[in-house]
Parts: sequence; structure tokens; C-alpha cells
Amino acid sequence: MVIIDLEMADRETATGVVGLVQAYVNTVDIQDGPEQLSDPNTLNAWLVAHELMESGQTVTEADLKHAIAVREAVRGVIGANSGGRAYPLDIATLNEAATASRLRARFGADGKARLEPEAGGVAGAMGRMVAALFAAMGGEDWSLLKLCGSPTCRWAFYDRSRNHSSRWCTMATCGNRKKAKRFRERAKAGG
Ligand SMILES: [Zn+2]
Repeated sequence: MVIIDLEMADRETATGVVGLVQAYVNTVDIQDGPEQLSDPNTLNAWLVAHELMESGQTVTEADLKHAIAVREAVRGVIGANSGGRAYPLDIATLNEAATASRLRARFGADGKARLEPEAGGVAGAMGRMVAALFAAMGGEDWSLLKLCGSPTCRWAFYDRSRNHSSRWCTMATCGNRKKAKRFRERAKAGG
């Protein structure tokens, strides 16, 4: 039983660029909260902590709106890995973020190619996020990043199951949520 529990706990989190994309999408728990990007300051802190932006930049409410729109567009394209379809609005949002950040192909001193934004601030940070998504989509493990099949959850999880057929973020979590919701409803009805 312990082995199964460990497998379940481990299933959710990816590493590298896929992990970064996943972490960004999961800055909100749509179903139960909290929203980590609740104001410009928390967005600023998150982007700096994940090395997408230098510290000391100005972050406005409009930046916050843009960042959340990009996050939800990323969630949308992940949905295509779990049987959903990519929506034109999500595609347009990602293309706009790439354009606004002025992403350019750059070759580092190490000889490796990467996409880097010319824009600074949140626009640049969103460009780095799009670049991470670009790199993630080119990797073999991209298709294992999926959205939870619960329409009210839509948590991004990394499917480590043996046959890659998981549909829920974790059976335990989503199952428990359903149970908790039923309990709350019953308590409300009773009281
Ligand atoms: Zn879920």
C-alpha cells in the first residue's frame, strides 16, 4: 500500500521545462483556491522566484491580467494532451505573448540554441514562459502533461502511470474533494 501511495504522490509533478509550465498553470487551484497570483506583487514574486524576470521590475494590474490570460491559454493547450481541443482564443493569446515579448532565436556561449525575449518586465517573463512551453512541446514527455478530467478541477498533472492512461490529477485528491463536497451539501441540507 505504501508503494502505491508513493506512486500516486509522485505522479503529479514533472521536472525541467515541463515542470515549469506545470507549476505556472497550477498557481491556481480552480476548484478550491487559493489563487497564488492574486495581485501584482504576488505575480512579481513568482516570476522572480522562477527566474523568468529580474527583481525590481514594475508589475501593474494590466500585467497581472495578461499573465493570467497566458496561464489559462497554457492550460488550454495542455488540455489537448488529455483529449480536449485547443481553442483559437488560447492559440491567439500565446501567439500574442510571443510577439509582445519579441522572442528571438539565440545561440549561447555553450553553443546551444534557445528562444529569448527582447522585451523586459512581465512581457519578457511571459516570453520566457512561451519559450519554456515551446521547449516542453518538443520533448518526449510533453504528452504526459495532462489536465484532470474533472471539469471543475482542470489541475495540470504529470501522468507517470505505467500505461499513461490516467485521467485525474490524483484519484485520491479528486475523489476526496467529491466526498467533501457531498458532505458539505448534506450538512447544508441538514442544517
Ligand atoms: Zn483533479
